[in-house]
Amino acid sequence: MKRDLNMPIKALKNVGPAREAALKKMGAESVLSLLRLYPRSYENRGDVKRLDQTENGEKSALCLTVATAPKRALIKRGMSLLKFRAYDESAVAEVTYFNQDYLAEKFVLGESYRFYGRIERIKKASGKDSFSLSSPAAEQIKESVSELRPLIPIYPLTKGLSQNIIGKLVGEALSIISASGEEDPLPSEIQIRNKLCGRSFALRNIHSPETFSDLAAAKKRLIFEEFFYFALGIAVHGKKRTVNKKARVCNDREISPLLSLLPYSLTAAQQSVIEEISADMAKEAPMGRLLVGDVGCGKTVCAAAAMYIAVKNGMQAALMAPTEILATQHYKDLEPLFSELGIKTRLLTGSLSPLRKRKIYESLVSKGEERTDVVIGTHALISEGVSFDNLGLVITDEQHRFGVKQRAALGDKGRGVHMLVMSATPIPRSLALTLYGDLELSMIKEMPPGRQKVDTFAVDEGYRERINAFIEKLTGEGGQVYVVCPAVEEKKEDDEGDIRFLDIPLSGDIRDKTFEKKEAPPLKSAVKYSEELSLRFPKKTVAFVHGKMKAAEKDDVMRRFAIGEVDILVSTTVIEVGVNVPNACLMIVENAERFGLSQLHQLRGRVGRGTRKSYCILVSDSRGEKAAERLSIMKNTYDGFVIAEKDLAMRGPGDFVENAGGIRQSGELSFRLADMCNDGELLEGAFSAARELIKASPDLSMYPAIKNEIETVFDMGNKY
Ligand code: ADP
Ligand code: MG
Repeated sequence: MKRDLNMPIKALKNVGPAREAALKKMGAESVLSLLRLYPRSYENRGDVKRLDQTENGEKSALCLTVATAPKRALIKRGMSLLKFRAYDESAVAEVTYFNQDYLAEKFVLGESYRFYGRIERIKKASGKDSFSLSSPAAEQIKESVSELRPLIPIYPLTKGLSQNIIGKLVGEALSIISASGEEDPLPSEIQIRNKLCGRSFALRNIHSPETFSDLAAAKKRLIFEEFFYFALGIAVHGKKRTVNKKARVCNDREISPLLSLLPYSLTAAQQSVIEEISADMAKEAPMGRLLVGDVGCGKTVCAAAAMYIAVKNGMQAALMAPTEILATQHYKDLEPLFSELGIKTRLLTGSLSPLRKRKIYESLVSKGEERTDVVIGTHALISEGVSFDNLGLVITDEQHRFGVKQRAALGDKGRGVHMLVMSATPIPRSLALTLYGDLELSMIKEMPPGRQKVDTFAVDEGYRERINAFIEKLTGEGGQVYVVCPAVEEKKEDDEGDIRFLDIPLSGDIRDKTFEKKEAPPLKSAVKYSEELSLRFPKKTVAFVHGKMKAAEKDDVMRRFAIGEVDILVSTTVIEVGVNVPNACLMIVENAERFGLSQLHQLRGRVGRGTRKSYCILVSDSRGEKAAERLSIMKNTYDGFVIAEKDLAMRGPGDFVENAGGIRQSGELSFRLADMCNDGELLEGAFSAARELIKASPDLSMYPAIKNEIETVFDMGNKY
């Protein structure tokens, strides 16, 4: 058998069923996908220091010569200690290993080793500080330290795998590349134009870089690839939906009966969006429209108008929302309205009993009186049992929570359906056109009248007591409070001090940037903070929700907050989803320096939705200039689109891409690198290359290798 990158992972040496399962859990099904498990960070062992140059607690690489023979000592039952001294020209260090007696043979008196680990340096009055290293990594130096690899990859792990195992498997996989002389799927013109290295080079150097600049080149190529395949994937999916498909022409587009039931009149922006939708639905070509507008701008009524038109013209409409709460909220808003118009509306969510579900399924295919005209629901809408009599319109709300495939799956329930997707992430127009090349864009840039401005403050830890007093006051008046923290639990990352993948810039002097000391204040943990708040406010109900909770648990906490049973909700950013709690009037964001502007804006949009005067407090101890600038933008800007433009300029497209593709959430397309990318040029290069390729060969038949890549990339789950 030819050994190539498409071989299943079990074809590698030392991969039995258990290891295979563990690797699959990480997303590595084939040898190529194993190579796409990129390191999380790198130990910078190439930056060798002298002992007297180190700082206490810092991870450092040192070249030391063994000065005393390793001595074993039994400290207590089952615990042994191995100790020796080693020196360089500046000082002597004590090296200790626990329970690793076999290392006694490894360290030879008089030989030199490169050690890497956290150094403990204790200041002495004499000026002769003492140094010690506990269980450092060690490699023998044969001729010179320059022969040793400077950067050691650290992989994300799962149970049953170790750094060592992954390292060995990756090594074997890399040897297959060189042996099989893999062809690069990316046409060379594209590589040259975008100044990219080849794929083999990239894969080799992402895992085992010789130099920083090789690593940067590898990262650049692989990010480009992700953007490129993503763009192609979207284009291919979009084509599939519309090519040779005819949608039903909607002749009757009079919506005044619907409008007359609303307690308000439409804003000009809503009116023009509804006109755009209406014009699309008058055509035979299936509508593909993205509606973007800030939280609270009133997208739902535009969706209602589209559904009304569809039903009036004999078709059914489906509205899919990412969570049960959101779907239920839509149902509660729309059902009474539609029922007045004689439209039958049903709610379909995963938590319904099998019997109820079956009843709804039946009503969706029935042709008579009992036919459901509008169905509102969650992912349950795309489950297999669901089919329609005559589905003509599909709408997805909070688009960024769904992937391209899920969006398509709903559309596939009908033939030539009109499609509307809605998003509250105000992406800049340029980027929207790139990311959603297959959709027309509508924007709502105006809020309904009477909407209040949420007063925004940026403060530091010194304001803690005042913040608490403010919580006290507002909850005392019956208001509710959101507190958002970036971390679930407080913990020291074990790769702290190493070079994070994220921090490797694609160009420029890597060393300078990497070692810039970041003034990152400690992370506030949601768990700990909610405990603190419970103690501080014993009479109030404090609840806690985070992304790792089960969906049902999460939904339950959110529901209790929505009905006012919970006064203070502490969470990680999972609450970004557009739940409407009009009684919430205070949003506190901890470690605000950690969030992108658009994210902060989204969070702020959670409050100020009712009659209570609302506030947003951004708490940050960061001294960084950029952080200060960002927080000041938040204080002074309330337009989501302006904020998005600034975010794009300051942080690059990474955050938007992640939001737009729904990648993390849907687990459908694995963006491993791209969300860490701050390079807009690379994104545009990749998307324009994709457009050209599609033009040259719409079904990609001219590029079988690329087609194959897209299929595997699009199906590969993001498992970490
Ligand atoms: P989003 O765009 O975030 O989905 P919604 O559609 O949920 O916003 O609208 C937010 C609130 O604004 C709803 O309570 C809705 O009834 C109200 N609303 C929508 N349009 C108008 C309008 N033109 N005038 C007054 N209130 C409106
Ligand atoms: Mg909404």
